[in-house]
Amino acid sequence: MHDTTVTPSRFESERFLCVVLHDVAASTRAACMRTLAAIAQVADVPVTLLAVPRYHGETPTPDLIDWLGSRSRKGDELALHGWRHRDELAPEGPLDRLRRRVYTRGEGEFWAISEREATRRIDAGVAWFRDNGWPLAGFVAPAWLLGPGAWQALATQRFEYTSTLRELVHLPGRRSVKSQSVVYSTSSAWRRQSSLLWNWVVPRLESRNPLMRLELHPRDADFTAVRRSWQKVLERALRDRRAVTVADFMRHDRAGAPTQVPAMTVAPSTQWQSTTAE
Ligand SMILES: [Zn+2]
Repeated sequence: MHDTTVTPSRFESERFLCVVLHDVAASTRAACMRTLAAIAQVADVPVTLLAVPRYHGETPTPDLIDWLGSRSRKGDELALHGWRHRDELAPEGPLDRLRRRVYTRGEGEFWAISEREATRRIDAGVAWFRDNGWPLAGFVAPAWLLGPGAWQALATQRFEYTSTLRELVHLPGRRSVKSQSVVYSTSSAWRRQSSLLWNWVVPRLESRNPLMRLELHPRDADFTAVRRSWQKVLERALRDRRAVTVADFMRHDRAGAPTQVPAMTVAPSTQWQSTTAE
């Protein structure tokens, strides 16, 4: 069992680490298990698992559902990560095509869809969690890309948080907690190289931040240099940080927040960054 309790009185001086695993689905489960095993080699920490109900159109298997249920009972958090994950709409012009087909490699499902369509997909995802009896606090868009329709849809939902590459965002109200993700890209050799460099830099830049986010993908254990890099980040972070799920971090951040500044609104802050696409 993981100890996920955070004592509010110690909160201000405490430092936290959130470990997040993206793209959890039936077809990625074996790779997810390898990554979770590589995390466990370093430490037994709670992980936030971003589950995709119909990943690339596939149907979730009973094995996946049993496994997610048992991870949830053991102290991991399950969060909703889109519906199909894929951005299926036609790009509007060359720049849009570059962003959506090259930068995110077509995985920004919630970037261009309308509020209505975003609501439909989120509702279906929420129903999937409910049918399986899983607690649900967070919605994280594929590739962290929330377009205007998706933000509008989230405003009418009951999530406690969402996140982007650079921040966690409380819902409702959008008060944000800045924290640049440590995230790797493994799809090609040059992406792996640039992410190793990037992830040497980010933990150093973020070392004074009370929250560090390590955001992993299913294949992140399959490339030795990448695996060793994030295992080192994890090991170092745990010297003076406590690992908690994102939902737990957000609840305690909310509880410890100074007297609410009236609904401080953060502009949707999706930013393009060449080395950190999903
Ligand atoms: Zn994803």
